[in-house]
Amino acid sequence: MSHDPLQTGQARYAWREIDRREPPKRKAEERITDFHEIYSLFDEAMIREQASRCVQCVSPACVTGCPLGNRIPEWIALAAEGRFLEAAEISRRTSSMPEICPRVCPQERLCEDACVIHSPEEPVCIGAIEKFINEYALASGNGHIATAPRNGLRVAVVGSGPGGLACADELSRMGYTVTVYESQLLPGGLLLFGIPAFKLDKAVVERRINILKQQGVEFKVGVTLGKDVSLSGLLENHQAVFLGIGALKPKALDVPGADLQGVIQGLPFLAQKNAPIALDLPPVDVNGRRVVVLGGGDSAMDCLRTAIRCGAAEVVCAYRRDLANMPGSRKEYANALEEGARFLFLTNPLAIEGNGDGNVTGVRCVRMELGEPDASGRRKPRPVAGSEFQIPADLVLVAYGFDPVPFPPGSDLARIAVNDWGATKVDQNQMTSVPGVFAGGDVVRGPSLVVHAVRDGRRAAAGIHRYLTELKPSPAPAQP
Ligand code: SF4
Ligand code: SF4
Repeated sequence: MSHDPLQTGQARYAWREIDRREPPKRKAEERITDFHEIYSLFDEAMIREQASRCVQCVSPACVTGCPLGNRIPEWIALAAEGRFLEAAEISRRTSSMPEICPRVCPQERLCEDACVIHSPEEPVCIGAIEKFINEYALASGNGHIATAPRNGLRVAVVGSGPGGLACADELSRMGYTVTVYESQLLPGGLLLFGIPAFKLDKAVVERRINILKQQGVEFKVGVTLGKDVSLSGLLENHQAVFLGIGALKPKALDVPGADLQGVIQGLPFLAQKNAPIALDLPPVDVNGRRVVVLGGGDSAMDCLRTAIRCGAAEVVCAYRRDLANMPGSRKEYANALEEGARFLFLTNPLAIEGNGDGNVTGVRCVRMELGEPDASGRRKPRPVAGSEFQIPADLVLVAYGFDPVPFPPGSDLARIAVNDWGATKVDQNQMTSVPGVFAGGDVVRGPSLVVHAVRDGRRAAAGIHRYLTELKPSPAPAQP
């Protein structure tokens, strides 16, 4: 539909006349041949048209739906006028990675789900607009690097995933001298090693890290907390520490045959197939093999789509609940379907079957039905008697989620209080039970979204600033 609502004076009602459009997406048969991102940007005219669908709510529900509280109507109004640099400048005020979050957020559960014109109509395409204005600004070399006079205070950030990077960004903007410690040989954490490049190009992560370096953030890679450095060592050299070390202990597959050759945890598989450097992991040959992925979250979708790109003969997802109760993003589910993945809902593994050589040959499963809601409010699946069947498989990828890695017993990290399932406890400032030590992201909340980790990192930076400027007693003046 060709229409310029800004010229007609009907902008407030443009959403009735202009359909929502999705950003250009590469065809499935082309994109499964490589690991490049599948979405590209709208052009400027389309961004202006799509932005004009926003009715500029007085109490914008989209802002509440965004975990960062992004000032969405403000930057959408500017985008509708073609003032993209000003729009990006506002979006940067509330987000430390405004070009990354729109690539990986499940908007259909967050900002766009909350948009007021969603039902009766399709919501404003908030994520695509946020990505466009920030890519536009970055391409123009405009304003992402913020330098501030150093305030003489040092903070250590442990872990360079989204929480750590967001915390480092905020602190460096406030004048703190920040050093990020990363156990891998490249910074980026899950952004680099966990999220496939077809969703988030590695060059996009590298660009964001380079921005932080230009802001004065120092990165020390190949350094593991609890092994190469201790918590007390960090506290001796820094006034505060932020822990953004994630939750990387995979939930186990607890069925007979789980130790057969060809049963592999999803995260090391994703890291090996997506990391921009060779990792010290045993090679996994996928080409021509039948792959079964167990689980229904975003990691499961990533495993399915990565296996397809690695040449799997057949890729099947087995999930114990139904589609309505599947935690994975609907957008990624649709993309996986388009790329050739097959989904078996209400299907639970009973055993992994193998041959005399100890190699996987299949997954014995049982059909499930949904019973009464459990403590989480979701209907609890229960097996259907006599419904067992086998899915042939050469490779089984387990994507059941993660728990925090326990702190090494005996290390000085063990003094940090954790809850019953090992997650680090924090107060409203993201401070742990150890004064001056803060934490955020998956190590606190368990596996969650990138945008939640960014929010935690920013909150922790504000908490650290408060702690160092208001709460922490100043050293006693030296006696004459
Ligand atoms: Fe939406 Fe995520 Fe951007 Fe917030 S950060 S506006 S939830 S895409
Ligand atoms: Fe615009 Fe939707 Fe936000 Fe309202 S809720 S301000 S229509 S994006």
